[in-house]
Amino acid sequence: MTELKSYRIFIDNEWRNSASGEVFESWNPFTDKPWALIPKCDMRDVDDAVEAAHRAFHSGPWPQMTATERGHLLRRLGDLIARDAEKLAATEVRDNGKLIAEMGAQLRYLPQWLYFYAGLADKIDGSVPPIDKPQMFTYTRREPVGVVAAITPWNSPLMLTAWKLAPALAAGCTLVIKPSEHTSASMLDFAALVAEAGFPPGVVNVVTGFGADVGDPLTRHPKVAKVAFTGGEATGRRIVEASASTFKHLTLELGGKSAQIVFPDADLGSAVSGAVSGIFAATGQTCIAGSRLLVHDSLLDEFSARFVDLARSARMGDPMDPRTQVGPVTTRPQFDRILSYIDIAKGEGADCLLGGAAAQRPECGQGWFIEPTVFGEVSNAMRIAREEVFGPVVSIIPFHDDEEAFAIANDTDYGLAAGVWTQSFARAFEAPKRLQAGTVWVNTYRAVSYLAPFGGMKTSGLGRENGVEAINQYLETKTVWMSW
Ligand code: NAD
Repeated sequence: MTELKSYRIFIDNEWRNSASGEVFESWNPFTDKPWALIPKCDMRDVDDAVEAAHRAFHSGPWPQMTATERGHLLRRLGDLIARDAEKLAATEVRDNGKLIAEMGAQLRYLPQWLYFYAGLADKIDGSVPPIDKPQMFTYTRREPVGVVAAITPWNSPLMLTAWKLAPALAAGCTLVIKPSEHTSASMLDFAALVAEAGFPPGVVNVVTGFGADVGDPLTRHPKVAKVAFTGGEATGRRIVEASASTFKHLTLELGGKSAQIVFPDADLGSAVSGAVSGIFAATGQTCIAGSRLLVHDSLLDEFSARFVDLARSARMGDPMDPRTQVGPVTTRPQFDRILSYIDIAKGEGADCLLGGAAAQRPECGQGWFIEPTVFGEVSNAMRIAREEVFGPVVSIIPFHDDEEAFAIANDTDYGLAAGVWTQSFARAFEAPKRLQAGTVWVNTYRAVSYLAPFGGMKTSGLGRENGVEAINQYLETKTVWMSW
């Protein structure tokens, strides 16, 4: 048996075992075998990490640094990510089952987040309000909020952490990062780059373990000023409750049940290929997955046939093979959960046009694969159309006119993203106004950038990541009055 790789946590720029000395296994979803041992932290490690981050925030070199110097450090970290992109990508493929084709591109792009916020660090300025009182002068300072707990899910560990870390460090905050218990390895590889870049001790700390042992105490810790969270809606709710006693700042990026509307004047070829990648990229395990396809009834038969053909041709198999298009599901519980949703949809009377079962292909080996699954004749009232499946499962829902399309698209508790396929100028402008979603894509789907804000409406979350706007989520405004 091959030996498992042992990881250690990163606190105060030191590599440590967990206080308990316990570890847990991280599994490779393609081989169905454990491959790494991860420290199982608890309250004691959380306390150590938060104390280190708190010390680094208030004393030592970090608060003395100029914003330009902070920017230099961030830029250096971006260069190191660029240098090690292939290695980091390979860790995520092994730990998460993500495709090397998707991960390579994602990690080559990731340094842009570091560079962008590095450039913003020394452009954080205050204001001078024109005051209506004699012999008084007032100005505002924008100060970092303090220690940030960054808590992330398993589907894109490095990318979703970078979205938090880059603006937080640019603002002058310090961090305790808690990756998902299912995919902690790449964050510990990343911590080595933080040390190499030259960040002072305590500025960035990584603790690993389970939500109840590590995530929950972090969100209650009195010395944590802000929680930046990406994950499920139920956990988001728990975090709001846990952080209420100390009124922490919060950014919450939660789930979605995003609609893509295919209007009668859509370019069908682009709509079909955009909708296929909109749901099946990352095996459907993305918060922005376009899991409800609203198709005008005049196009229903042709669209469904072409969509099913393209989805059927998706190549499954080893995520390390650059030709693979659909990989395994990341975790065993998620695999079981997706299959249970497929059963629910069948029980509700949805017509299974493709897939609908675990994949039994030789190229899938022992991996946790599910066939790309397409349900037709779905009503928006069915559970398959209302609940986030987070897997390669899509529902096709017909509509008759634009008003009905907007009503169905908005008839969801979520509000993360939406897609619109049309060649009409009027619809291209009208639809984004009418759709209740933090991101609306027109004739494209899935594009994200460090330059453009990202986040959800309704139960999809609070606040925005990315773009200039995100840095404000890590700053507080202080008003100073002076008199003479
Ligand atoms: P999850 O909510 O189960 O876990 C996310 C993180 O929270 C993990 O690190 C987990 O250990 C931690 N956690 C669990 N319980 C906690 C608690 N009580 N207090 C604090 N932390 C706790 O989510 P998941 O299953 O890892 O990820 C899938 C979910 O993430 C989906 O709902 C998906 O839509 C969402 N997601 C959202 C976005 C977005 O940007 N909106 C992006 C990716 C994923």
